[in-house]
Amino acid sequence: MTMALGDRHQKKDVEAALKRAEAAGLKVTRDKKKHTWGYVLCCPCSQRFRVDCTPKSQGDEAAEIDRFTRGHRNCA
Ligand SMILES: [Zn+2]
Repeated sequence: MTMALGDRHQKKDVEAALKRAEAAGLKVTRDKKKHTWGYVLCCPCSQRFRVDCTPKSQGDEAAEIDRFTRGHRNCA
């Protein structure tokens, strides 16, 4: 899936982690609701990680996304 321009996360550390998730084969979907930016989805096991629009710490949010990516990169 290719993300359209404008669907980038405004926090660059988070955006970089989302790119790593995509590179690992996970799906990143935009779902703009309140504080939710979207989700990182693992299709094979149908788990998902909610990405915050305005995380308190973008470094922590990126680390959480990376943890999810590591945990699911071998699901497919
Ligand atoms: Zn999985």
